[in-house]
Amino acid sequence: MAELKRHSRFRTELDTALVDRIKQLVLASNEIVITCHVSPDGDALGSSCALWFVLKALGKSVNVVTADCAPRSLQFLPGVRDIVASTRQGDRAHELIAAANLIFCLDFNDADRVDRLTKPLLSSRARKIVIDHHLAPCIEADVIISRPEVSSTSALLYIFLWQAHWANFINRNAAACIYTGMMTDTGNFSYNSNDPDLYLIIHDLLRKGIDKDNLYKLVMNTSSESRVRIMGYGQYRMQILPEHRAAIIMLSEEELKEFDYSKGDTEGLVNVPLSIPEVVYSVFLREDAKDCVKVSMRSKGDFSVSLICEENFGGGGHTNAAGGEFHGPLNDAIQKLLEIIPNYDKYLQ
Ligand code: 5GP
Ligand code: MN
Repeated sequence: MAELKRHSRFRTELDTALVDRIKQLVLASNEIVITCHVSPDGDALGSSCALWFVLKALGKSVNVVTADCAPRSLQFLPGVRDIVASTRQGDRAHELIAAANLIFCLDFNDADRVDRLTKPLLSSRARKIVIDHHLAPCIEADVIISRPEVSSTSALLYIFLWQAHWANFINRNAAACIYTGMMTDTGNFSYNSNDPDLYLIIHDLLRKGIDKDNLYKLVMNTSSESRVRIMGYGQYRMQILPEHRAAIIMLSEEELKEFDYSKGDTEGLVNVPLSIPEVVYSVFLREDAKDCVKVSMRSKGDFSVSLICEENFGGGGHTNAAGGEFHGPLNDAIQKLLEIIPNYDKYLQ
């Protein structure tokens, strides 16, 4: 009987009351802002731009406002050029947030994750809707759709639009954005990708005219020379701690300068050591400034790097992909990392 009552054709089914509430809020609002986390990735930008296309099709005045710009590999994404990034258009970003009566927070679970937009977001009197797949959201909002078991916010957004009977408003551009988010958050459907819903969604997106093979090429084949060199160098310098099943890659500020590093050049580097069967988790430390080391971690199976990032680097994320920061020089960061790594041996299978 329960099966008959299902409203969705997807395994993930959203509470109808929440879906209806979001629809009401959208229909009652004319100035809408969509925002996502700082250093936006394919899922953050894909879900944001897709929703932007849909809300425009619904006749809304809507803007995507982000803390910073899209990386080079995602510049092709439809809608990206219209994003108001605070690093480029600070005043306009603040004005739009202040004037909004509805704000969508996509692909993040904590107001700190929008960096320089945290204050404007928290002081805005707009209604807020969170659609996200990170653990334990702690943003105050009128509606929260939080489904950590869904591999991307983009897939979750699709399911919302489908249940809201708004899938018709997804044009080819919006479909390309949703596909890109789903693809990038699953490593081109190589992890977190056993959910059959994903393939129903892909089926629908293909019917909307996306060229999935080309989207893969557009995301993957945009390396600069510096990126190819820095990726090689990082891998060459990788350290393995066999007794802890861990791999560490670190790049100092000097090394980044030497390789003419620009933002996005090290994207994916942290994943590479996982291709070694013995490695259960991989850590990448990047010294962005003398007192700020960006920490990125990836893991396999049930080993939670989110726990390590939360407990030691003021961050978080997902079981298999997480990050945080260390405030201090790279040498201190590596020292701390080496100190804490043995604490997590007990979680190795
Ligand atoms: P990346 O390693 O690609 O920067 O981040 C991987 C995932 O870790 C992101 O999707 C995000 O969920 C999480 N993450 C990265 N950096 C931070 C951080 O500083 N704070 C928190 N809370 N999560 C982070
Ligand atoms: Mn995501």
